[in-house]
Amino acid sequence: MNDQPGFDAIVVGGGLAGMLTALELQPLRVALVSYGRLGESTSSAWAQGGIAAAVGDDDSPALHAADTVAAGAGLVERRVAARLAADAPGAIERIASLGVRFDRADAAHYALGREAAHSRRRIVRAGGDAIGAELVRATVAAVRERAAIERFEGGRALDVVLDDSRHVAGLTLRHVDGTTEMLVAPAAVLATGGIGGLYRFTTNPTLSRGTGIAIAARAGARLADLEFVQFHPTALDVPSDPLPLISEAVRGEGALLVDEAGERIMAGVDAALELAPRDVVARRVFAVRQQGRRVFLDARAAIGDSFPLRFPTVFAACRRFGIDPRSEPIPVVAAAHYHMGGIAVDLQGRTNVGGLYACGEVAATGVHGANRLASNSLLESVVYPERIARDVRAAGGRRVGPLSRTRNEAGAAAPAAAAAWEELRSEMYRNVGVERDESRLFAAAARLAALAADNPSEEFRDAATVAALIAHAALLRRESRGSHIRLDYPGRDDAERHRSFLSLADATLAGTA
Ligand SMILES: Cc1cc2nc3c(=O)[nH]c(=O)nc-3n(C[C@H](O)[C@H](O)[C@H](O)COP(=O)(O)OP(=O)(O)OC[C@H]3O[C@@H](n4cnc5c(N)ncnc54)[C@H](O)[C@@H]3O)c2cc1C
Repeated sequence: MNDQPGFDAIVVGGGLAGMLTALELQPLRVALVSYGRLGESTSSAWAQGGIAAAVGDDDSPALHAADTVAAGAGLVERRVAARLAADAPGAIERIASLGVRFDRADAAHYALGREAAHSRRRIVRAGGDAIGAELVRATVAAVRERAAIERFEGGRALDVVLDDSRHVAGLTLRHVDGTTEMLVAPAAVLATGGIGGLYRFTTNPTLSRGTGIAIAARAGARLADLEFVQFHPTALDVPSDPLPLISEAVRGEGALLVDEAGERIMAGVDAALELAPRDVVARRVFAVRQQGRRVFLDARAAIGDSFPLRFPTVFAACRRFGIDPRSEPIPVVAAAHYHMGGIAVDLQGRTNVGGLYACGEVAATGVHGANRLASNSLLESVVYPERIARDVRAAGGRRVGPLSRTRNEAGAAAPAAAAAWEELRSEMYRNVGVERDESRLFAAAARLAALAADNPSEEFRDAATVAALIAHAALLRRESRGSHIRLDYPGRDDAERHRSFLSLADATLAGTA
């Protein structure tokens, strides 16, 4: 393969999925493109809980797959979930061999955590609540050791370049100094992360704006399940952007959700109270705040003085804003946290465009359905890179043919004003967020189109495109299921029990993107 011009593959994304793909592709020649330095401003580095894998003595991949299917509210592809759960233990061993220091019970066993909707203890952890930092530390070190991985840190991927047969031939990127470059390769892997940055309140890095979805859509890739955006009920409500996450485990230890008057807000809403499914709790937190009341997580009685020891990351975040969870309730808000939808891929991570792959949060594999089972997302980010690398190798380094288009060669338009970003993100939180209805979704689509027309910069255009596609998908699903709540269609509808697929052309025709 090395007699090909340029690279054997281009990988976009300096998070876990992108870096592991570059490593799995070794010894091929790989270009690794990331906005910032590897691992910086990634959701991967911020992960607190762990990676789900059936490695406990009382567990099995079949049980893990069954829990995944149950969480996904009828839309999980069973075959995909079964394969993911089956590959999980091997994937954990592979990344342990990179030098990741997982928490261990003894030499032969991992110390396993338990999370909501998992029927067994199966969360592989590191550093207590600091799995992400440990994964990123070990992976960045491994990537830096590989001479065949050329890093383009500070590069922003703009577009996939296709040849005359509509197969990947390369990728354009813009460097920090404003210049553009075209990298040539017969395969490209998009691992650009989530979309939380499109929302006013998010736990994701603010640059997680779904550019990979926009790039794939322009290349003709199919998208799937875009309407399913998971909101986390307990982001720390402080003047910060993004917002620190207060892990579900704090509620698991007995912390209570209360309003300003100290009244329990989950009473009468769900029998499981604070431990109701994430979407139910997020909806309640959102609704109470819509009424103009603030919401707090009160950990004083349940956790009290042991807070710093049990939740060091959360404690440090609270202290940065002068909050002491040992002696006062923690203010919280529902925030965009995870995108179940994205670029539609098959079991090998392939899109419908030849040579174009996606993995990590930007991919829609079919495993999450309408609601993700906690800790399955890092799992996807460690399982799919190996499958993609195998497929790229099997493709055997197809020659790059004559190029049919290169885009964005012109100078960049002026960046959009902060006010435009603020408006886009507020519009998404208000009208394409926790609760939706037809008139608000139409209004949002119109406003997003107007904002895009007024702000032609590449970054804003990509963000507005993805935001409009999410609004479009949310309009099409006329029911409430999992994380997608339609006030005008409050129940589940069996006729809608199918995944949703769309292309940029569908949304453009409908006038929403
Ligand atoms: C606070 C928090 C806690 C979490 N905890 C857990 C957990 O315990 N367990 C779990 O399973 N999941 C957890 N998740 C979710 C999980 O962390 C993510 O789904 C996963 O890390 C995504 O990895 P990724 O590599 O796909 O994306 P990221 O890690 O977000 O990396 C994306 C990369 O792409 C780059 N990029 C994007 N667009 C471009 C472009 N156009 N050009 C160049 N580079 C680009 C970014 O700069 C970044 O380097 C958590 C998420 C958050 C935010």
